[in-house]
Amino acid sequence: MKIVDEYFGCDVFSTSAMQRYLPHAVYKQMMDVMEKGKELPKEIADVVANAMKDWAMDKGATHYTHWFQPMTGITAEKHDAFINPTGPTSVISDFRGKELIKGEPDASSFPSGGLRATFEARGYTAWDPTSLAFVKEKTLYIPTLFCSYDGSALDKKTPLLRSNDALNKAAVRLLNIMGYNIHKIKTTVGPEQEYFLIDEDMFKERLDLLVTGRTLFGAAPVKGQELDDHYFGSLSERVKAYMEEVDEELWKLGVYAKTEHKEVAPCQFELAPVFTSTNIANDQNQLTMEVLQKVASHHGLVCLLHEKPFDGVNGSGKHNNWSFCTEEGDNILEPGDSPKDNIRFLTVLAAIIKGVDEYQDLLRISVASAGNDHRLGADEAPPAIISIYLGEELTAILEAIEAGNEYVDTIDRKLELGVSTLPPIAKDSTDRNRTSPFAFTGNKFEFRMLGSNLNISCPNTILNTIVAEELTQFADELECVKQEDMTKALIALIQKTLKNHKRIIFSGNGYSDEWKKEAQKRGLLELKTTADALPHYTDPKNLQLFEKHNVYSASELHARESILLTNYYQVVQIEAKTMAYMLRKQILPAIFSYEAKLAQIIQTKKSSGIDAPLEVKILKNINTPLELVSNHLDTLEALINKETTTEKQAARFAADELLPLMETIRKLTDVIETNVSKEDWPLPDYNDILFKS
Ligand code: ADP
Ligand code: MG
Repeated sequence: MKIVDEYFGCDVFSTSAMQRYLPHAVYKQMMDVMEKGKELPKEIADVVANAMKDWAMDKGATHYTHWFQPMTGITAEKHDAFINPTGPTSVISDFRGKELIKGEPDASSFPSGGLRATFEARGYTAWDPTSLAFVKEKTLYIPTLFCSYDGSALDKKTPLLRSNDALNKAAVRLLNIMGYNIHKIKTTVGPEQEYFLIDEDMFKERLDLLVTGRTLFGAAPVKGQELDDHYFGSLSERVKAYMEEVDEELWKLGVYAKTEHKEVAPCQFELAPVFTSTNIANDQNQLTMEVLQKVASHHGLVCLLHEKPFDGVNGSGKHNNWSFCTEEGDNILEPGDSPKDNIRFLTVLAAIIKGVDEYQDLLRISVASAGNDHRLGADEAPPAIISIYLGEELTAILEAIEAGNEYVDTIDRKLELGVSTLPPIAKDSTDRNRTSPFAFTGNKFEFRMLGSNLNISCPNTILNTIVAEELTQFADELECVKQEDMTKALIALIQKTLKNHKRIIFSGNGYSDEWKKEAQKRGLLELKTTADALPHYTDPKNLQLFEKHNVYSASELHARESILLTNYYQVVQIEAKTMAYMLRKQILPAIFSYEAKLAQIIQTKKSSGIDAPLEVKILKNINTPLELVSNHLDTLEALINKETTTEKQAARFAADELLPLMETIRKLTDVIETNVSKEDWPLPDYNDILFKS
């Protein structure tokens, strides 16, 4: 048996691998690049590249690739062999500094949202030395940024790194004004990943799953998740073997895969890693999703990362646990042990509350996609309304501060800010509300609206940027305050912030209809669909925010809005086409043949002088919805071919016309399915998929 301590991270060009393969002086310089963000000295690039190649070849690698995350959200790679011709029939293995630092993939087919004309197809990939290179399938993977000729970001990672810088700058400035001697902060993320595992043979029989990742048809199974008997249940042997292999692969790649369990829906599971710095967490989450999918095929399984593969049972999300800490690992979102640290915590908390309130639209946009729209607000995931949950105790503390009262906790401890300490906030008491989209969970915030297949860079870019903005505003306000007056000034600032932004704090049941009404009263945004949310991306206040913090230029932001709107329309249109195809080619013919069988029985009985009321009833049960389906299908096919002029119009068209019609067709078809014999139904049904997998 292999022991994890011995092989963890063995396929990563880790600091210990660097130590072994690099001359000591170069190793030291590399550490400065990685830890202090210094620029890589040109003269050591060749040495680093060569060491990386030697290390990778010792691991069996023959190729290298610049690994990047274009705006599609999935990772991209193009492999080059390490060979260099030295004569007509001879080669040497070679890898130069310039090949490590910069690549020029033919980028014309990646979406650029107008940032790069197709004739100027060149995009550049640039090495990101803050994330570690690794070997996978005989290839050295080098994490890179992807940008256009003029330096515009064409990827998901560049803005994330920029937002980390923005938050670092703002937090360090504010904390120093407040009297802390802090040089650097970094954000940390732990993304909990949900997924479904289903049988590969059944998956292959369903075009909807193959093409769109979700079932476009399917009557409810005889049993759903009502008994709550799947959650945390014991694992089948096949799934256990699968998870063991996933863990081993991830551990070799240095991913801290830690917690695994069954989730609420049948066939649903979760994998949570131990948190790490945001850039690495992002890269590793992309790797995790890839490994989850790849390993499944070794076990006759398919891993579904779609946000809502099955109607009527929970979809899959990804909880983004987020915090930030100092270089020494001092977590800024940890309520403190001293009055001074409490004030620090409460100030940052107030800034986050303000940011979430002022930029509800951006947080909603950061998780918007066609797939996730099926989850949000569907009694299984937070609604499309953003609010913050702080837990009873912290809410009471904030209320007391706002009112200028002293706070007395349950065991009679008094909190007078600046005099006493914040009573210890029991971690579990802050985590009872699972219905909140943005919950404080003791020492971090958990953003719960992400869909399972989302690239986590966008939500984190937005979180970092909005918090950077609020910390900057606080710093501007406090800049001239003398140290001896600081506590008073901070308390006044916290009070003012709470007065203006407490509407965003909500402790009740986020899934309830009352909350929707209440949220409306409070003036909170409810951007129900992606088509409603995305056009706000480029609202003047948001353009200003991103430009101010150098996260997105105006053209970069317009590009993202455009790509996401187009993607939304395209996803829905492909679903509509798949639905029409399955109906015409599979489902309608199957229904006709079942109807023919029934008609035959009725005929036979009648010719023998026997009535066939039962068969007639079933035939009617089928035929009434069938006529409707047939008419709707004609309309759907006409809509599929309808031209739209702008991206916004296309997205609206998808949300207002295509999706509601598809929903109607589905409901009717599902009724028919319940009336047709199992033998005649042309697809594996929900019972097959969810219980025989
Ligand atoms: P739950 O299922 O109750 O939400 P888990 O323990 O499954 O909790 O997941 C919590 C996640 O939060 C883990 O990935 C954990 O590493 C992460 N986490 C813990 N502390 C921090 C932090 N300071 N910053 C970011 N993530 C954190
Ligand atoms: Mg969670």
